[in-house]
Amino acid sequence: MFKKVLIANRGEIALRIHRACKEMDIATVAIHSEADQNAMHVRLADESVCIGPAPSAKSYLSIPSIIAAAEITKADAIHPGYGFLSENAKFSEIVTKHEITFIGPKPEHIRMMGDKIAAKEAMIRTGVPVVPGSDGGVDTLEAARKAGKSIGYPVLVKAAAGGGGRGMKVARNAGELDVAFQTARTEAKAAFGDDAVYLEKYLERPRHIELQIAADSHGSVVHLGERDCSLQRRHQKIFEEAPSPAIDAATRTAIGKTVCNAIRKLGYLGVGTIEFLYEDGEFYFIEMNTRLQVEHPVTEMITGVDLVQEQIRIAAGEKLSFTQRDVHINGHAIECRINAENPQTFTPCPGLISGFHAPGGLGVRLDSAVYSGYTVPPYYDSLIGKLIVHAATRQQALLRLKRALGEMVVSGVETTLPLHQRLVEEPDVLSGDYDIHWLEKFLKQDAGPRP
Ligand code: ADP
Repeated sequence: MFKKVLIANRGEIALRIHRACKEMDIATVAIHSEADQNAMHVRLADESVCIGPAPSAKSYLSIPSIIAAAEITKADAIHPGYGFLSENAKFSEIVTKHEITFIGPKPEHIRMMGDKIAAKEAMIRTGVPVVPGSDGGVDTLEAARKAGKSIGYPVLVKAAAGGGGRGMKVARNAGELDVAFQTARTEAKAAFGDDAVYLEKYLERPRHIELQIAADSHGSVVHLGERDCSLQRRHQKIFEEAPSPAIDAATRTAIGKTVCNAIRKLGYLGVGTIEFLYEDGEFYFIEMNTRLQVEHPVTEMITGVDLVQEQIRIAAGEKLSFTQRDVHINGHAIECRINAENPQTFTPCPGLISGFHAPGGLGVRLDSAVYSGYTVPPYYDSLIGKLIVHAATRQQALLRLKRALGEMVVSGVETTLPLHQRLVEEPDVLSGDYDIHWLEKFLKQDAGPRP
């Protein structure tokens, strides 16, 4: 097992990884930008290295600085967390070249799944159902029109290099396709430096259901059930739960088997998430994330498995600590993402947190790196914490979430807490009757959350 892990990230996820390491008796090294000198992940780590100025390009994305930090501190592995360099195949190769272990999958799998066209092709080859769409990429308007006609409208133009919901445009009919195609390409080029796009059938009322998997180097491939992440704004998740109110045990077992077979055929190693849209009882693959996800805690709560520790075990060449037979779904868990943002306009609201009170009690978990007196810097993601609750039933989990949200205080900056407070009162959320478009409609028709 590793003696020292460098955590190439910041915020709540850096802290999450630190916690997993300490419970495995592994020393931790934090890296930080000049803006994060007083951050909690830096305070708690065994060692820390300042790797550059505030902008991520010069710190959290600077591969030479991170490698230098790992060499100076003699770290034997690097955990990338999510975001930043976590899905950068080149980074994982460079780490390995320096005889440091990258805690993540093999570079060829990161590369394959980072290209959504290649990912879809790989899934088709391994027997996973995908969203009907163009046969590969479409690089001319003519090809796009042809594909649109054969798929049938509405269609979605998507960036091959996509992520974070960017480079995605809906065309409701042939007349809208030209603009959608050009805009998606321009957006993709600006966001990812790659204007490759493809077309997919635009599903009108699916749920977003994703399967968590883990595969070790001893031939064990397991799934840990699904997460339902259908409550989204601008294709970004904000409220996640497990299990999904729309999936029964037989459906879970069937899709779990399909996914595990595919993962086995691909020779994938590590933890990962296969994302689907689910409509009328059918699953349609959209993408695979080759890293730990923001919403991983809901799976941890209902299975009792520490996904970060398993990830570290796999990277160290050890066996998973459990088998498929040991995976039992116990109760229900819900996570809500708390962002330092105006809850109506969603404009980021960095600044000094003048007061902070964490909720507590049975079944309440707060993954956050903020504290009273902490200044949320303007340079990074606005996520300041994740509130996760676990209870025996969905109904009890919702009541527990409502209770915990009521206890939580963050003053000095605006947060999305009031939005979550409203969501737990909504009949559709309470009954679990929502699809991926529900939240956008709710926000549109609503004057906004109560102050
Ligand atoms: P990204 O990598 O940018 O997150 P994804 O392919 O994972 O993109 O899709 C993100 C979200 O966009 C999905 O959860 C869903 O809400 C929406 N979406 C993606 N593909 C489709 C589709 N074919 N039809 C309808 N909505 C879609």
